[in-house]
Amino acid sequence: MLSTAEALATLLSAASPITGTESIPTLEALNRVLSADVTSPLDVPPMNTSSMDGYAIRTEDLTANGNRLLPVSQRIPAGHAPEPLKPGTAARIFTGATVPPGADAIVMQEQTETSDNEVTLLHSPAPGEWITAQGADIRSGSIILPAGTRLTPQALGLAASVGCAELQVRRRVKVAVFFTGDELTMPGEPLKPGAIYNSNRFTLRGLLEKLGCDVTDYGIVPDKLDATRATLREAAQAHDLILTCGGVSVGEEDHVKPAVEAEGRLSMWQIAMKPGKPLAFGAVRRAAQQADAASSDETFFIGLPGNPVSSFATFLLFVRPFVLLLAGMRTVAPRVLSLRADFTQKKADRRNEFLRARINAAGGLDLFPNQSSAVLTSTVWGDGLIDNPPNHAISVGETVRFIPFSELLN
Ligand code: AMP
Ligand code: MG
Repeated sequence: MLSTAEALATLLSAASPITGTESIPTLEALNRVLSADVTSPLDVPPMNTSSMDGYAIRTEDLTANGNRLLPVSQRIPAGHAPEPLKPGTAARIFTGATVPPGADAIVMQEQTETSDNEVTLLHSPAPGEWITAQGADIRSGSIILPAGTRLTPQALGLAASVGCAELQVRRRVKVAVFFTGDELTMPGEPLKPGAIYNSNRFTLRGLLEKLGCDVTDYGIVPDKLDATRATLREAAQAHDLILTCGGVSVGEEDHVKPAVEAEGRLSMWQIAMKPGKPLAFGAVRRAAQQADAASSDETFFIGLPGNPVSSFATFLLFVRPFVLLLAGMRTVAPRVLSLRADFTQKKADRRNEFLRARINAAGGLDLFPNQSSAVLTSTVWGDGLIDNPPNHAISVGETVRFIPFSELLN
């Protein structure tokens, strides 16, 4: 059996960014991955600005003669270009307005008294007080968002703040999914004896869509070799990855494995993890004349186990980073927290367990009582997965590795 880390390293070493980029409006670029650095063409703020409503002054006017009464020589609202500040005077100024040349500090209006066209300063500011210097946030020419960044709302705002109307992004990763299993029924259909609902279709599609993939869902493919091979051949043409679930256990009566072997190549992995264990990784040949935008002559194939929690966990731990590397991201490892276990798990498992747990009000972790790989309830109840190494029992109060779903679901 492979360790989780070995399987992940082997899988990720096969992934490289897809080719194909486009320039799209910044307003439509949420969740896309930058294919080029975004460089700021300007300083932010573009000029010295006041961060208070008050009076712009020259500090030397105060220290030179101790004078605290200054005539007001101009009024500068935000959005207006000021005149240079006349020596020995103050300028009325507002938040966000340009500091006039010559002024080196702002006295906030709460620390002043005004009468007619004069202001008395009740405070001696240090040079620079309440002034945000030009370029204090961003310097012209600096990289504000490197290639490989997935565009969050904040990142779009940052790009817009330097005037970027369009962004260079990679095209979306195209993923085909299908499901096998004679027991699978779609919600809305009556459930015959021995049947179950195809819950994985909903979970996996949702997961792929959250990652920003372009998903083609072939639904339930009849469990026949010809039908499975035909679906694989068709899916291989226009996709970067084919994802299936079910039928990768050893000795399974299922046509996915022979179909992928006939249409490409396949490795069946046994991973020392729970839930999970079987994972199939390979590729399906692409007809030469249709080799799409992608440069490769084959399409990746990943076969997940059918148990709902197993497919969920193996997706999060393996498929997610794989897809994000295809998408052009550079950092794909989830950030892991060290948290206190507020429970005891006496029995050590020889496999690497990924336990569904929840953060409680005291900042510790509670464990979902039923850790069976068929119990989807645990995935909704939980906030994430405890990554518990093989042969390790957990005692109450111990610090464990916790991977929050917030790190894994985007
Ligand atoms: P398999 O990996 O095909 O041996 O399936 C393992 C278990 O997962 C079986 O109980 C299947 O009924 C169940 N299963 C397989 N595919 C799905 C699916 N799409 N949705 C829900 N359960 C599934
Ligand atoms: Mg099956």
